[in-house]
Amino acid sequence: MAPNLSKREDDENKVLPKIISGEAPLVVVLSPHLDDAVFSLGGAIASCTRQAGKVTILTIFAGIPTRLPQVGRHFHDKYNLPPNIVTLRRCEDVRAASVVGAQTVHLNHLDAIYRHRDGDGSFLSMRDVLSADMNMEADLVSDVMQALTNCAAMLHADIVCVPLGIGGHIDHLITREAAERWVASKSTHHTVLQFYEDFPYVARATGDWLYDMTSGARPLLIEASEQDWKIKLQAVACFSSQISIMWSGGLSYEAEMLAYARRLPTEVQFAERVWQREIERDQEA
Ligand SMILES: [Zn+2]
Repeated sequence: MAPNLSKREDDENKVLPKIISGEAPLVVVLSPHLDDAVFSLGGAIASCTRQAGKVTILTIFAGIPTRLPQVGRHFHDKYNLPPNIVTLRRCEDVRAASVVGAQTVHLNHLDAIYRHRDGDGSFLSMRDVLSADMNMEADLVSDVMQALTNCAAMLHADIVCVPLGIGGHIDHLITREAAERWVASKSTHHTVLQFYEDFPYVARATGDWLYDMTSGARPLLIEASEQDWKIKLQAVACFSSQISIMWSGGLSYEAEMLAYARRLPTEVQFAERVWQREIERDQEA
């Protein structure tokens, strides 16, 4: 659900002068899980906070499960995870956020692998989680949108960054959908929505995600200094429980992040990319 385009122009007119004049923007990065924001935008967050910007990393699916459905049990067994893994991941997230100078908010919605669903039952495998039909999660989208509405950090945000949903993880798609609905429903229209490229999914994606997921949007490259990139890698290193799962073979996370940055269309060595919808002036008449 796309926000009203004429409102988008109004949003930009209010936010961009603030940034250009050096006034610290309030930024909220919506992170589906306890790592996505720093993996995907750690350099941009470090750069923003170094320049006095205020960044809150708001993690949606940070709820602590009380029992494990089949896919959760399988995941825990496969990676030998302790029962309190979500609590440990919350601690990792707080440490990582402090490295990049951000605040954290953890919401209590359960990760897809921990959700018990009525009707069709719980997800049965990770393949299920990565190919789920969002219509089956309509109530959860509404719940997340309501949680965003109730969140103080969201109320005054100049920019809200949300995942594009590359990789098709249902939690990433729900986060994006809820944020788009939240922006469309606001009575004061001063928030710019930007879409970030989900890492490491973007680096491993096959198929034409660029056109599928960025329709009507323009790219904004966020260049990072060498210092900001080092800070990003230090922050990523805080997520040791996830590094051992996501980079268990092949490239290291440092190498994969650098390879991704070098594929972006910029001369600088370190960069990340977000997407923002173009204003379609023809539709305003
Ligand atoms: Zn995620």
